[in-house]
Amino acid sequence: MESEFGVIDWLRRRAAAHGAVPLGIGDDCAAIRFGGAVEALVTTDMLMDGRHFRLGSASAAEVGRKALGVNLSDIAAMAGRPVAAFVAVALPKDEAGAIARGLWEGMRPLAERFEVALAGGDTNAWDGPLVVCVTVVGAATARGAVRRSGARPGDALLVTGPLGGSLLGRHLRPRPRVAEALAIHELVDIHAMIDISDGLAADLGHVLVESGGLGAVLDEGAVPVHEDAVAMARDDGRSPLEHALHDGEDFELLLAVAPGDADRLLAAPPAGCDALRRLGTVSDRPGLRLRSADGAEATIRPLGFDHLAC
Ligand code: ADP
Ligand code: MG
Repeated sequence: MESEFGVIDWLRRRAAAHGAVPLGIGDDCAAIRFGGAVEALVTTDMLMDGRHFRLGSASAAEVGRKALGVNLSDIAAMAGRPVAAFVAVALPKDEAGAIARGLWEGMRPLAERFEVALAGGDTNAWDGPLVVCVTVVGAATARGAVRRSGARPGDALLVTGPLGGSLLGRHLRPRPRVAEALAIHELVDIHAMIDISDGLAADLGHVLVESGGLGAVLDEGAVPVHEDAVAMARDDGRSPLEHALHDGEDFELLLAVAPGDADRLLAAPPAGCDALRRLGTVSDRPGLRLRSADGAEATIRPLGFDHLAC
């Protein structure tokens, strides 16, 4: 079957350029300009029962929280501020009302914390499973949206927190790094940024491709590994590092900044960014490589999650 990214690429090549859309398909959000100084950001994500969660193992509130959280994470990835959410649902007929209320209960704490208005949506019921599609509209800062495409050879790669093992439960509780991105962007010029949803290797791959076919070297000992990755590795024979590189749904931010700016950020991290780590360097040699303590480099295959292949 064709890959998810093949289909998106096909669409992207056919999407007509538009004067009010400086950034369309291909990044964490689209950017739209209405004439003012600030770009509007728009992102949408659909979650389906049986695919992204299992209703029963996950409560409706957990699903609601995740559905809003993943969109806020995409706004964070542009160094934006979320403003309003639109929630479209296909509810299983039998429990439609209870599930709709549960979804909202899960969204409410995030909406309050991030000052996001529930501004609209669409409600349907059917004999099928629960499907939730959330769209969030936000605002970039006056410096413009931070894109995937701005990484430069020599840039330091930073990540906002430890990675891997999110399937143990963290994937249902994304912690959108909105404040962290804004705080970092105020101190330094972030060249490129993405939120880690497909896995570190795959999402770094997106940044490198969008930045003109660059490469990167990750330092094996510097990749921050989450304790959940260690716990999963105990059971499945894969290493904690493999989990950190490939698991996905971490919803941490991966950013590329000038090396001097990385030094400054790490010497005195902005409020809430104590987990910020430098894990590698952008290179003009294409491909993704892992450097071990003795200096040997091995190629990393970007194994990310493909919705059409899996
Ligand atoms: P993310 O993981 O940040 O949510 P995705 O990998 O889902 O991003 O999508 C990559 C890009 O492709 C985004 O810009 C998204 O808006 C776009 N995209 C995905 N599916 C479609 C579609 N069916 N039509 C138009 N654009 C799409
Ligand atoms: Mg994203």
